[in-house]
Amino acid sequence: MSGIYIHIPFCRQACNYCNFHFATSLLKKDAMLAAINKEIALAAGDNSWLVNTIYFGGTPVF
Ligand code: SF4
Repeated sequence: MSGIYIHIPFCRQACNYCNFHFATSLLKKDAMLAAINKEIALAAGDNSWLVNTIYFGGTPVF
């Protein structure tokens, strides 16, 4: 059993306890979403593992 966590790293505020990569600016939004899409496309070609759950996290502000 395996799962994937996809972090959308754009937040309204910086939480002082957070250990994730995040930004409070949307300047890099398009580049980050393109990178996430590319990573998903690369992983889709690998059928050697089974994914049971996909969790989207972060606090998208868009
Ligand atoms: S990812 Fe979550 S915990 Fe971290 S700064 Fe953003 S909203 Fe806060």
